[in-house]
Amino acid sequence: MKKSLTNPIFKIISAVAEEQKVTAFVVGGFVRDFLLNRVSDDPDIDIVVVGNGIEIARKVVKAIKKNIKLSIFKNFGTAMFQYEDFEIEFVGARKESYRRNSRKPIVENGTIEDDQKRRDFTINAMAISLNKDSYGEFIDPFNGKKDLKKKVIRTPLEPDKTFSDDPLRMLRAIRFATQLNFTIVPETLDSITKNSERIKIVSKERILTELNKIILADKPSKGFKLLEQTGLLSYIFPDLEKLKGVETIDGKQHKDNFYHTIKVLDNISKKTENLWLRWAAILHDIAKPQTKKFIPGQGWTFHAHDFIGSRMVPRIFRELKLPLNDKMKYVQKLVLLHLRPISVAQEGVTDSAIRRLLFDAGDDIEDLMTLSEADITSKNEQKIRSYLENFQKVRQKLKEIEEKDAVKNFQPPVSGEEIMKAFNIMPSKEIGIIKNAIKEAILEGIIGNSFEEAYEFMLIKGREIGLKTSEKPKIVRQKSEIQNRKAKGKKE
Ligand code: ATP
Ligand code: MG
Repeated sequence: MKKSLTNPIFKIISAVAEEQKVTAFVVGGFVRDFLLNRVSDDPDIDIVVVGNGIEIARKVVKAIKKNIKLSIFKNFGTAMFQYEDFEIEFVGARKESYRRNSRKPIVENGTIEDDQKRRDFTINAMAISLNKDSYGEFIDPFNGKKDLKKKVIRTPLEPDKTFSDDPLRMLRAIRFATQLNFTIVPETLDSITKNSERIKIVSKERILTELNKIILADKPSKGFKLLEQTGLLSYIFPDLEKLKGVETIDGKQHKDNFYHTIKVLDNISKKTENLWLRWAAILHDIAKPQTKKFIPGQGWTFHAHDFIGSRMVPRIFRELKLPLNDKMKYVQKLVLLHLRPISVAQEGVTDSAIRRLLFDAGDDIEDLMTLSEADITSKNEQKIRSYLENFQKVRQKLKEIEEKDAVKNFQPPVSGEEIMKAFNIMPSKEIGIIKNAIKEAILEGIIGNSFEEAYEFMLIKGREIGLKTSEKPKIVRQKSEIQNRKAKGKKE
């Protein structure tokens, strides 16, 4: 295993350990990812010292002879520093010993094997020696390497013990199974199901970290199926759990919205790494249970689930400890608009529908199109193909219209001041009325998005609502002509 120790930091640690007469090992994720030939998203190197981990970390930092900041967490007996691309974390070997109902360990010094035992899974419990006379030796008391080959997740000890010592590990099992596309062995999986309720004692922040890692996997549905199957989902994300199930009335069945949602999530994950766009996929149909109705002769409807769903987003974000900032606003907006591209594609791609879509989605139009496309989960190949073709048309038209009319980041072409000046009025509700009428006229295609046309339209509209001005429309175009265009615009 010497091949894994190319980073010069290992030699430095080895020399310091030798000099201090302690033993040190690299363990956990680094060893696993080396054997898998995998590049981790957050590369860190965990070093276990049989002795005082913090002390050794201090000496290692000194030996590197660079200005490195060491962060020490006395309570946990750990110390950490950044070295090139890696976070290197030092910890003293511990004997398992957890207080019930608390994740905070009471730490007792132990051997390397004691320490390996208290790790979550066999594939995370492998170590490599950094000691002079056994440098590079592989230490694998729980056959982690064999489990890697078999692609399985298994606890090193009896699973009930591992999970009751720290219930977060249940979620980690599912996270690793999803990230690595591994199978959780039946004994371990059964134990998760049995102990699922214990997840309640874990902090929401830690749960969210694992949940986000599941969401960012190549095929997140695998994780969500496991969460559902083990019962964990109902504790950590009840709103999503509620999407499960089908109902039949008059021989008409609606689809299972849980499976639909995680399929949409898989679809979108092929197109984007953006966590928030993936969250929008998870939440796009979240209000379907609340809005579900059977209308005889029509079938199942979920009226306004887009609108109600977007209003549920802040509560869900708060409960899951997701950030209540512009990311939340973005998810809300996508949930609100998720049906729009589909209805545009279905009801005919008119210029005005496209302009309204651009106006409402703004810079998020591309992401909205991606979400809407991912939302097509029909089993009928023919149907999917025809949808996707329509989407192509919508995309083409979006491009054309935006080049022509620039409504994506709409700025009123005539300002409030200009309106006040033209009609010699003070700030009043008329200004809002005129501004809105101009915007509507542009979106409907009655006038183009330019100052001249908008100004002219303003003069006419102002007179219409009883305002007075000495100015005449510059380009003398009659009101009747504008009405003609209005009628035409409607027909488009
Ligand atoms: P990654 O960093 O890619 O998410 P990792 O395996 O490195 O995966 P970390 O959370 O960085 O995961 O933890 C490092 C190591 O610490 C793990 O490999 C495992 O041995 C151990 N570990 C982490 N959390 C726990 C836990 N809750 N219970 C037991 N062992 C744990
Ligand atoms: Mg790690």
